[in-house]
Amino acid sequence: MTLRRSLSTPIPEIFFAAEQILQALKKHDAGDVSDADALLRAANNDIVRAYTEQAWGKGATARYGFLSISKAPPHFPLSDRPRPRMPNASTRAMVIARDGYHCRFCGIPVIDPTLRRLVSSCYPSAVGWGSTNDSQHSAFQCMWLQFDHILPNSRGGNSLLDNIVIACAACNFGRMEATLEEARLHHPLQVDPPIAWDYHAEWDGLERFRGKLRSASASSLY
Ligand SMILES: [Zn+2]
Repeated sequence: MTLRRSLSTPIPEIFFAAEQILQALKKHDAGDVSDADALLRAANNDIVRAYTEQAWGKGATARYGFLSISKAPPHFPLSDRPRPRMPNASTRAMVIARDGYHCRFCGIPVIDPTLRRLVSSCYPSAVGWGSTNDSQHSAFQCMWLQFDHILPNSRGGNSLLDNIVIACAACNFGRMEATLEEARLHHPLQVDPPIAWDYHAEWDGLERFRGKLRSASASSLY
């Protein structure tokens, strides 16, 4: 059986949008909120939105050719799944320390949702985040940091360090409750982390800007 690194192959536009967001926050850091706003708007593009939609939309099982494996772990009812359902704060910190701010499957940069909320609170018009997919900034949506269970919690997977990896929204919600074997994926911790763009070493999930964004969101930029 041929295994793959990720379900979808990331498109260049995702990395370009990430560069635009990085440049935007550098402008923000320098006090140039007008340029920052323009760059954040430019990073919200329909090509990235279409990529995410195809990656996590309906029909994933057929689209990705998931297998039916005999003797695969069963789907447990909610009451029988290992707890906690999500990793605690100390495990999350260890996962970040190990994986950094890139998806362990496809290698795209990711951004913590609490950081995205800070950017959105500073630039609410440029970085919209409504309740529908279409109303959410496409690049922040695609690069939404997820703590993904390698063996899904619904299949008996725990929330400890060895069973959690950093993933992007497309990789997490594309696989859903499938095991690695069913999804024909390599074990993400048994292959080298993908290095998919030039900013890999520099990319810290924008965390270095957190303090500046917090103080800016307390005042009003506009
Ligand atoms: Zn991914």
